[in-house]
Amino acid sequence: MVNVNSTARRAIVVGAGMGGLTSAAVLASHFTQVVVLERDDLPVSPLPRAGVPQGKHVHGLLGGGLDALAQLFPGFADALVAAGAVPIRIGLDSRLEQVGYDPFPQRDLGRWGYSMSRPLLEHVVRRFVARDPRIEIRAGSSAREIIVSADRVGVSAVRIEKRGGAAETLHADLVVDATGRAALTLDFLQSNGYGSPEESSIAVDIRYTCGVFTLPVDSTRDWKVLMTRPDPKVSGRRAIMFPIEGGQHWILGLGGVNGDSAPTDLEGFLDYARTLRTSTAFNAIRNAELNGELTRFAFPKSFRRHFERMLKFPRGLLPIADSICRINPSFGQGMSVAAKEAVLLGEVLDGLSHLPDPLSDLVPAFLHRLDTVLGDPWAVAAQDYVYKHLANERPTEFAEKLKFEAALTRLAAEDAAIHSLMTEVAQLLKPSSVLRESAITERLARAIQADSP
Ligand SMILES: Cc1cc2nc3c(=O)[nH]c(=O)nc-3n(C[C@H](O)[C@H](O)[C@H](O)COP(=O)(O)OP(=O)(O)OC[C@H]3O[C@@H](n4cnc5c(N)ncnc54)[C@H](O)[C@@H]3O)c2cc1C
Repeated sequence: MVNVNSTARRAIVVGAGMGGLTSAAVLASHFTQVVVLERDDLPVSPLPRAGVPQGKHVHGLLGGGLDALAQLFPGFADALVAAGAVPIRIGLDSRLEQVGYDPFPQRDLGRWGYSMSRPLLEHVVRRFVARDPRIEIRAGSSAREIIVSADRVGVSAVRIEKRGGAAETLHADLVVDATGRAALTLDFLQSNGYGSPEESSIAVDIRYTCGVFTLPVDSTRDWKVLMTRPDPKVSGRRAIMFPIEGGQHWILGLGGVNGDSAPTDLEGFLDYARTLRTSTAFNAIRNAELNGELTRFAFPKSFRRHFERMLKFPRGLLPIADSICRINPSFGQGMSVAAKEAVLLGEVLDGLSHLPDPLSDLVPAFLHRLDTVLGDPWAVAAQDYVYKHLANERPTEFAEKLKFEAALTRLAAEDAAIHSLMTEVAQLLKPSSVLRESAITERLARAIQADSP
């Protein structure tokens, strides 16, 4: 074990969601003790919980997230399958419906993905983390406040309220805020004179209604993942559907933007499904049985807090995952970003471990490199500028971006190699810069020219 140094012994991670669990796994190799505080009681089986209300909704895991999780937890994909995740052949098992391509060519792109519910994924991650003797997960423990150090340049402890009301103050050398909301970090920054981070945001006002269905036994289809994208000129209505937990059940999410949302009663939900651009989702569930209730989640805007732009930042305080940035869930990136940030945290810690006081550089070094993980997902979030009625000021280069994407999509439909590359970028397996590399830039430039009026 490489300890950060003799005085840096305990890391406290607040939140046992995707960001907290993956960060804890990384910190365990660098701190004598890692304590994960979670306000919820944690279920022993894969069940939704109050602290992660989005957990009842469709949650896809991108290839980049899967790779990051496999890096943190050897044998991760096998553990997922053993727990009931359904293997998906990327490209071949996905029916992608978008304007001009209903469907986009289904081809085997040579990779496996897995579909499951969010609670099942988190359950498998939590099992890996719980097995690590260096990590203690304290359920039913709410962090109430991060306490400033005596010299006021950093953190020193976390004030905790346990289920039942008992209070405790636990010393910490590092506090990772993986609460998904960053309220603790923002309070700390405000009350200790650091101010507030700048924020970028892109309005989307998307509302998802989701349900779990049992499909009729005689139903057949040539896909396991369905994505029906909207025609933004007409409406923002869209669908995403895939099998969960052994494939006996399927989860379907219907989304709308700008105040539009699918009803939470079955009849209204079916009627809404009927209004999608294609009939695929409706046909899949028209004779299906709904298990439990339909639930709705509203997501007003994608936003990113620019902690990296703050002139000074407290020693030993690290916001991570959704505490830094939340992106329109339609793009399915949040959990993958969380896992990739944890991997980055590990790299930064490894790089600093030779220094006498690595903690003084840890947070600035992490924030400095954050864009290597967050830059592309945030650029994807900018696709929502397409909805003109939303309160967004479109960047001037947006029209060019649309042309680039249309040309890329057309080439990808024609050419399996470009389809593969485009998918690797969309799955956060490769940086978007590969799309600007000479081998395809000329073809893209010609395609853009051909598309121009
Ligand atoms: C409707 C919807 C659908 C989504 N679909 C996808 C998808 O398809 N793919 C994808 O990758 N991402 C998706 N996301 C995003 C994904 O859910 C998040 O990006 C991800 O969960 C972020 O992880 P996190 O650890 O930051 O937060 P969370 O996973 O939300 O975890 C935060 C944890 O902190 C705990 N907590 C909060 N405050 C305290 C406190 N004071 N003390 C102790 N514990 C505390 C909470 O109980 C919770 O356990 C979706 C989001 C939404 C809203």
